[in-house]
Amino acid sequence: MRTKLVAGNWKMHGRREMVASLVPTLVSRLPQGPEVAVCVPFVYLSDTQAAIGGARLQLGAQDVSECEDGAFTGEISAGMLNEMGCRYVIVGHSERRARHAESSQRVAEKAAAALRAGMTPIVCVGETREERLSGRTATVIAAQLAPVLALGASLVERLVIAYEPVWAIGTGLSASVAEAAEVHADIRAALAKVSAAAAKTVRILYGGSVKPETAPALFAVDDIDGGLIGGAALDAEAFLAICNAAV
Ligand code: 13P
Repeated sequence: MRTKLVAGNWKMHGRREMVASLVPTLVSRLPQGPEVAVCVPFVYLSDTQAAIGGARLQLGAQDVSECEDGAFTGEISAGMLNEMGCRYVIVGHSERRARHAESSQRVAEKAAAALRAGMTPIVCVGETREERLSGRTATVIAAQLAPVLALGASLVERLVIAYEPVWAIGTGLSASVAEAAEVHADIRAALAKVSAAAAKTVRILYGGSVKPETAPALFAVDDIDGGLIGGAALDAEAFLAICNAAV
């Protein structure tokens, strides 16, 4: 049995006052059952960690350098994130692949850096609208996953993967349950080729316009082990409703 994971990706949103109001609300009303994480902007990791205190809410970041500490202006190392109390770090989000030209190879290196530092990377994959319309979804996702799966069974078994169709992110157009289920099953099959344990233990999240209304049907699918939530993670009621759908 995989424990469901609901992770909020705040992206470049929020101010200190949002941390001060949202995080204690989440902490006080977390449902029993699913694991819940908030992936906040780097500058708010410390405030968020303090607001979490000893509660079950997990802390995450939104990116990490693939490099060890060194002369890399503006970058944040896995060791730094680990020291701040991060359990999770998102890597390869489509917004970073698109805006920062992150290749799948580099995403795999970031995942490896996070794992070396004892964190769990949430590796994002997903096709654009054009890729889906031209029937290339499975090929695109297989290519994005290939360097990550090449890290080998012992590392792959410790990953979380998030399927986030680019056309569903921030658009209000969630993938249908059937569309998501098909891709999740493909990802599970790809994991099985690495190891039976990876196929069994790796959680595959769905992300892209998840809302309280759409979460229950998505999370009811066997291969969907929770969600990576953008816009709805900025609202306590919406995010808690989604967490409750994962119970
Ligand atoms: P939305 O939930 O706002 O569509 O964002 C999804 C996402 O990109 C999470 O990483």
